[in-house]
Amino acid sequence: MKQLYAAGLLALVSTGSASAGGADAAAQTVDCGRLLDVKSGTWRERVSIVIENGTIKSVGPMTPASANTGNIDLSTKSCLPGLIDMHVHLTSETTPVVDAYRDRLTADPADLAYRSVRYAERTLMAGFTTVRDLGAADGLNVSLKRAIAAGAVPGPRMFTAGKSIATTGGHADPTNNLSHFLSEKLGTPGPQEGVIDSPEEGRQAVRARYKEGADLIKITATGGVLSQAANGQNSQYTEDELKAVVSTAKDYGFRVAAHAHGAEGMKRALRAGVDSIEHGTLMDDETVALFKKTGHWYVPTISAGRYVADKAKQEGYYSALVRPKAAAIGPQLQATFARAHKAGVKIAFGTDAGVFPHGENAKEFGYMVEAGMTPIDAIRAATIHAANLLDQPLRLGMIAPGFAADIVAVDGDPLRDVKVLEQVKFVMKDGVVYKKP
Ligand SMILES: [Zn+2]
Repeated sequence: MKQLYAAGLLALVSTGSASAGGADAAAQTVDCGRLLDVKSGTWRERVSIVIENGTIKSVGPMTPASANTGNIDLSTKSCLPGLIDMHVHLTSETTPVVDAYRDRLTADPADLAYRSVRYAERTLMAGFTTVRDLGAADGLNVSLKRAIAAGAVPGPRMFTAGKSIATTGGHADPTNNLSHFLSEKLGTPGPQEGVIDSPEEGRQAVRARYKEGADLIKITATGGVLSQAANGQNSQYTEDELKAVVSTAKDYGFRVAAHAHGAEGMKRALRAGVDSIEHGTLMDDETVALFKKTGHWYVPTISAGRYVADKAKQEGYYSALVRPKAAAIGPQLQATFARAHKAGVKIAFGTDAGVFPHGENAKEFGYMVEAGMTPIDAIRAATIHAANLLDQPLRLGMIAPGFAADIVAVDGDPLRDVKVLEQVKFVMKDGVVYKKP
């Protein structure tokens, strides 16, 4: 690791740019036993990838000269593009409710920030070289993104929403269900803290995220499972609030991700022009048709659904408000995914990691395949499709000239057994090796 940090520092000095992220200036070659072409869904045997300054320069046949001559030897491995998770919360991780409340009283933002370093590292080591972080308070996810980009801590490339935008009492209102005493002390959160109650405040909240350093906007269009509130699916935005948020976001070049469980909230969000719906649990036929008409993305997060349904069985893990929601909504996600996939809705891979332990993101592949998707389509969801949703189709999601040198390798054939992706043996991000066989 020491070397890695040194390389990161050098890159910073030589390029003067925090986004260099530790790329090694010298050319290097990665020799792969085989390489998955995610577009065609076929393997190319014995391939050499030449990398310069963190970018892929060429991809060609492995020559005897390049085989085992001090280059990175993955000749017994299967290489794929670095994996992309469209829905994580890198600055928090699930705990029993009693610990969550203790943290609320005793943990400072800096405490949470230090904890998140391990979550970021685990995610990267699991083969996820890029993530979209969909919400945290106090700018924690923006600071983590900067630390990773500067090479100060190892982690995936982050695109972050900053603070999720909610309505009063809604999913992501940070003051839900507190005592009157505490509520009075904390005051009423406003657009700056990501809570809005009018189109005007919606515009302010988007601009506050721009100022905060976010890359995209996350809204909570309906109730949610893990917020301390009664309803897990009610519509929480009016159409004019949604339109104000989305149109302002477009002015700033932001894409908009909308958390939604209930069908009505989903339809309003899709009509307002959000780019993705997260969870989508209770989508009906009309919602499916709207997805297809608008061409917007669905990010399923089956992993989160399964995890919360399981934890809801455990006495005391969730609060009395959350437990019945987790038990009712959690188990439905996988079936919703199956239906949406069958209907041809565009799907990008996302897990909601943080709701379950970080680093277990790749279990989602198994759940997707279990629900009827082919392994190659599940991999496409976590590579080329995710890159499209990120608006990075020429930089991320493929191993090809001009793309970021994000490469992972596994033993065996993920097209036959997608679960081998849960055991990633090699991880390179921006040309820097973080994990070796
Ligand atoms: Zn989430």
